[in-house]
Amino acid sequence: MDVVVVGSVNADLVVRVGRRPAPGETVMGSDLDTFPGGKGANQAVAAARLGADVALLARTGTDQYGARLVAGLAAEGVGVEHVMETEGASGVALITVDAEGDNSIIVSPGANARLTPADVAAAGDLVSGAAVVSLMLEIPLDTVMAAARAARRAVLNASPPRELPGELLALADPLVVNEHEAAFLLGAASAAPVSEPAGMARALLALGPRSVVITLGADGAVVAEPPTAGSPGFADAAAGVPAAAPGRVAAQGDGALGRPAGAVVTMVPSPVVDAVDTTGAGDAFTGALAWRLALGDNLPEAAGFAAEVGAAAVRKEGAQSSYPRGEEL
Ligand code: ADP
Repeated sequence: MDVVVVGSVNADLVVRVGRRPAPGETVMGSDLDTFPGGKGANQAVAAARLGADVALLARTGTDQYGARLVAGLAAEGVGVEHVMETEGASGVALITVDAEGDNSIIVSPGANARLTPADVAAAGDLVSGAAVVSLMLEIPLDTVMAAARAARRAVLNASPPRELPGELLALADPLVVNEHEAAFLLGAASAAPVSEPAGMARALLALGPRSVVITLGADGAVVAEPPTAGSPGFADAAAGVPAAAPGRVAAQGDGALGRPAGAVVTMVPSPVVDAVDTTGAGDAFTGALAWRLALGDNLPEAAGFAAEVGAAAVRKEGAQSSYPRGEEL
């Protein structure tokens, strides 16, 4: 397999409302729309549509959604042999969209909460044999950790944001976050205010992941990697001089991480598009990134391709329904 996603599968239940109800209030909404979702399933579909050989390790419920979600994934070309059925509810996202287009989302994890480290072990060499294992945080943290430990290379989309154990961060190659998630992780880890993207990427790298990608919406993405011999900035970094650090955060490479101080930062632009709906853009980005890393791209190359996929995804409504096929790019 190029990519194995260990992650979540949800039914997205969407109702449009004029305004959200206040506590105790009832408002009328539109007819209910039901879409396939979940960050794990979204990543897998994004990669499959591009042509990746991709499988999903996940759990769905025995309710009215489970079988439909699995059939939909199979129809997209995602390997579903390791999507297991769990007695009870599937993962569900309850989404209201108001007149301004703003979302409010409640995720009920359902079967996703029952994906265990034992499931990772039971999948045998599915996880350890994949070129890249792609992860997100809609499943239990100990399951994410088990998959990251077993992986040859783990891509970790730290979303929804939560505090991460150092061991998991140290396995992320790359850690993929949007600006809000980056701020959350930095806030959790340091008192220093950071807002400028390159500085945020350096500061995140200093927390210990092997590499970092921050997605920046229409502005594309920023990549931070430790310096290697021959890379620009290596001489500075090896001498302990922070590489040119725009913004307020000096490079904080840490000898304790067993690598030279400093970071090589690359800005990756996104194509300019008319954005219609940004739902699931980050998942499209991560799925595409994982696939290109599996094919052997370096991280800035893979991020450049992923930014094109993310930009294509925001040009259409929906999450999975908006993801491009290889020939459309
Ligand atoms: P998330 O969905 O996790 O908040 P972003 O909004 O950063 O993530 O989007 C992920 C990627 O999708 C970006 O890196 C970019 O390539 C692409 N993208 C998102 N919004 C736009 C936009 N308005 N125009 C062009 N590309 C976009």
